[in-house]
Amino acid sequence: MLLARRNFLALTVGGLFAAACKPAPNPVPTNSKPKVLATISILADVAERLGAPDLEIVSLIGPDQTAHHRDPTPRELTGFNDISLLLHVGFKLEGWIDRLPESTGYRGPIIQASEGIDPILVEGRIPDPHTWQSFVGLRSYAETIVKVYVKLWPNLATRFKARLVTYLAELEAAEQAAVARLAQVRQGRRLIIVPHNSFRYLGREFGLEFRGISALSTGAQPSAQALAILLDEIKSADAAACFIEAEADKRLMEQIARESGAKLGGKLYTDSLSKPDGPAGTSIKMLAYNLATIAEALAT
Ligand SMILES: [Zn+2]
Repeated sequence: MLLARRNFLALTVGGLFAAACKPAPNPVPTNSKPKVLATISILADVAERLGAPDLEIVSLIGPDQTAHHRDPTPRELTGFNDISLLLHVGFKLEGWIDRLPESTGYRGPIIQASEGIDPILVEGRIPDPHTWQSFVGLRSYAETIVKVYVKLWPNLATRFKARLVTYLAELEAAEQAAVARLAQVRQGRRLIIVPHNSFRYLGREFGLEFRGISALSTGAQPSAQALAILLDEIKSADAAACFIEAEADKRLMEQIARESGAKLGGKLYTDSLSKPDGPAGTSIKMLAYNLATIAEALAT
């Protein structure tokens, strides 16, 4: 039995439906929409854009919450009883995912949205999970999700595929706008200081160098030596800016900006969306807002 569960977990989008002839493990009640659970709000937004209103999408971790070290609570685990599909980011973001069938009895498909994305390895070995902070990442999420939707609900394939075309077109437009804005910024070494480095994939796409304060020290504060090295790097960069994620980050970033002369550029959205009426209420708005904020700070 345990072996069967592990085999199921190991299935990818391509392999998932090789076993499709088996009875559906979590049958959907005929009087309700199929429910899809996504682990973080950014992934839930992509899933919703492609699936709603035919599917009901729920997010385990809501807006303005951290995505790290966040196991589902016992109450949240009961929410797995009636879902038809679980979408997770992967690259070890959700360390609890392998234990899920044991802890909940969930037997439905578990799909890794980051599947197919070329991982950036931290310290040469750990895949960085922040794949949502890039146009390549969101595009790949969308294509993976629609592939799964079409397999699970083939009668809705035309609708899912039409929504994918619309989503990808909006993503493309946001990307072109970001490219145009960043073209106005001084070229060369563009260094951006953030509380924790969620932006390696964005950096790879746009030729921006991000540095996370949390990587400078295992404690809350970087050592004096690490800070001095960072200040020198900022001063020698062609353009530099500092950002916060939450009010709690502000004091150290203010100090770094003051001592290095870098611009303090405000808040970036890293691991979750803002509330719907905020500046990063959707996956595309989040990328557009972050890049516009970065371009503005680097340009001044
Ligand atoms: Zn993060």
